[in-house]
Amino acid sequence: MKLLCICLLILASTANAAVNPRCSSNAVSSVVTARLLNFPHEVDHCQTLGALPPGFGRILDQLGVLHRRLEAYLGVPFEQLVPGGIGIRFSPTFVYESTPSPGRFTIAVQPTWTGELDVEDTEYIHDLAHIITATPGGTLYQRLLPFKGRLTFDETFADALALGMLGKPVLQGTGGGVLPPVLRFWRRITTDQSFRDSFRTFYRFTYALEMLKTCEGLWSAGSMTSEAAYYCHDFELWRIFYQPLAATELDVEFRAEHCLNSVGNLIPYVKCDPHIIGIPVNSFVLDLQQELGADLYRGLFSKILLAAEPRHGKTFSCAFGPTERPVHAFPVRVQSFVRAFELLREELPRSQQANFDEAWKRHELSILVKLESYELKQAAAAAGTAELRVFFQGPGTATLKPGDACWNQLPRAGGGCALSCLETE
Ligand SMILES: [Zn+2]
Repeated sequence: MKLLCICLLILASTANAAVNPRCSSNAVSSVVTARLLNFPHEVDHCQTLGALPPGFGRILDQLGVLHRRLEAYLGVPFEQLVPGGIGIRFSPTFVYESTPSPGRFTIAVQPTWTGELDVEDTEYIHDLAHIITATPGGTLYQRLLPFKGRLTFDETFADALALGMLGKPVLQGTGGGVLPPVLRFWRRITTDQSFRDSFRTFYRFTYALEMLKTCEGLWSAGSMTSEAAYYCHDFELWRIFYQPLAATELDVEFRAEHCLNSVGNLIPYVKCDPHIIGIPVNSFVLDLQQELGADLYRGLFSKILLAAEPRHGKTFSCAFGPTERPVHAFPVRVQSFVRAFELLREELPRSQQANFDEAWKRHELSILVKLESYELKQAAAAAGTAELRVFFQGPGTATLKPGDACWNQLPRAGGGCALSCLETE
């Protein structure tokens, strides 16, 4: 029995280990090809004996260089950021864009791809930011969890990491080299972008509509290539989800409230595009960096980690039940991403704090604060509901009996039994 267990352990560890040293030396755990004409389907090339397909070794070395640069920049071993190394998958994706998921990065290639590819470092670091905040067991996963999924955080942070580490203001997609430049570039972040703009700029469909218009332009000019047609065809899928808004609704001064859904919640992609929300925030950092002649991103990352700690969070006072006699009253802590900027400001000399404040106004970041205020309320309500579930399952309910106000009302909280959470500081 004991011998069998040891054998199973050895088998399991062999299955997890990358056979090909080119994979393991670059912290890549697997390289899978799927739905491609020139490569086997669902085969992990790190596990097959023999040489890697032509071009793959060069791509792995490119990724390895970026992994080492990232660990040096963040001061955290890559193995701790993405435990077990990163899985790479080459596949045509639903929409022609590379996509990150926990521990894995799918590089979108065309079905006829032959193995030639330059990894675009800005996209890869942007997507690594998503991966390291989504991979359970990773150092930054747990620490940044309070901010995860917020309109104000995910894409802003990913662009910040790419901008801070690489210093390149233009983000473009891996595999985009085959596309005409007009389709290749995602975002250009300069020092003068602000929230003082129209709602149209931040509306979630604006980017996709611009891409589709560009595609129509290529067709009518007769300059459409087969690669661009493949990309444009995938963008057509956006039309299925498109919810048109009148110009009178879109061409108005942007306010945080424009991003709220019909029941007053702020959910990424429902009304506003998180990628575009991140632009004025990063533009502010670039602008202030230039003005102060200092690298602010390094400091900002350490402040983001600080702000994610409960001690830097905001306190909300929650109460459940009739206002005058709550059944259960308790505080919850909610962490604020904006707090990272406050901490960054506090560390600057007083003269530079004035520059900070002026740049904050120039980029109209009061809108970021407003957007986050909705997110903090939602996070407080979610934490309050979680606490109530514990309360109604635990000894707290012993003081209540059938017939008492709000007795065992969860999850049907309503009427006089609603939960309310208000910020106290
Ligand atoms: Zn992203």
